[in-house]
Amino acid sequence: MRTVYLDHAATTPARPEVLDAMWPFFAEVFGNPSSVHEAGLQAKEALARAREAVAAVLGCRPAEIVFTSGGTEGDNLALLGAARASRSRGRHIITSRIEHDAVLEACRALEREGFRVTYLPVDCEGRVDIAELERQLDSDTVLVSIMTANNEVGTVQPIAEIGKLAHAAGALFHTDAVQAAGALSLNVESLGVDLLTISAHKIYGPKGVGALYAQRGTPLAPLIHGGEQERGRRAGTENVAGVVGLAVALSLAERERETEAGRLAQLRDRLIDGVLERTPGAHLTGPRGDRLPGHASFYLDGVSGESVLVDLDLAGIQCSSGSACKAGSTDPSHVLTALGLAPGLARNGLRMTLGRGTSAGDVDYVLETLPRVVAEACSGALVT
Ligand code: PLP
Repeated sequence: MRTVYLDHAATTPARPEVLDAMWPFFAEVFGNPSSVHEAGLQAKEALARAREAVAAVLGCRPAEIVFTSGGTEGDNLALLGAARASRSRGRHIITSRIEHDAVLEACRALEREGFRVTYLPVDCEGRVDIAELERQLDSDTVLVSIMTANNEVGTVQPIAEIGKLAHAAGALFHTDAVQAAGALSLNVESLGVDLLTISAHKIYGPKGVGALYAQRGTPLAPLIHGGEQERGRRAGTENVAGVVGLAVALSLAERERETEAGRLAQLRDRLIDGVLERTPGAHLTGPRGDRLPGHASFYLDGVSGESVLVDLDLAGIQCSSGSACKAGSTDPSHVLTALGLAPGLARNGLRMTLGRGTSAGDVDYVLETLPRVVAEACSGALVT
């Protein structure tokens, strides 16, 4: 049976170049980068090279990169770290209703610490309400956090515009670029951000490693204490192999970005058009334009995403109903609910995210299989 992996927004396989680059740092070059002997210096140099490579893609200084354990930690460090360090200036934070839980739950933690958080509404395609952002910004606002692109519905936000408004009001601006990495330019100067989160495993790098860009001078209270690594912003012996893998993955993603984004956008459009044409009761979620190139998402009338997923999996097609972190949950998606879907429909999401390994033949296979699976799920029949 054919296997078609369409869950690249959840994670991606590490590419061979990444594995090759990481391999020596598990045993051959095993030193602790903080050690002053030769073994330590070799690891320290590898870390410095990786930092330079990441900084080159983001268009920032190497010292502005903090290596983390991934997107969740990066978002937490940005939100908790910047808010706590800015507490004396103000207690108001603005984010959107469709952020990843790494941002939303960090905001809820800050509310428990006495911060006030505004959760901006979005339109029916997931675009942040800019007029509402302008209304909500005030002299008490210390931080705005809006994701570059949404993981469930693929909507790309006007980050540069939002950044200008945040800065004009004297607030710091963070963006979660975990899904945008490899698909959109992450030049921090053009985006106008003070803080930006990325994660390696979404761009064919290893799991459990990421980076936070923190512009020089951005106040940031560390979350992890116990060492001076990462200039005191993140204690703990560095994940040298992981960081090397992140740097290679990000550099390759940037080199191939435009070509691969063009290829994926074509496949995505073919998938979206085909699904809407051939699958009765399937509706697009998120916009047609301003959407991540490899991202297709739908909701289905009258049939839960989870039940269709199981049957698709039996047919060799691996996708998701929404966020990987919420898989198995019966709660309606907070993103689809924010887009205005009733709770019943917000449980019926279907997300298909394409990647480097996806071919036109894979898309055709999905287009042949999905209508049958949905029809059978609707009629309650078992798929064999
Ligand atoms: N932010 C977004 C938008 C994501 O999609 C994810 C992962 O799905 C994360 C943050 C968390 O990243 P990580 O899995 O590296 O912790």
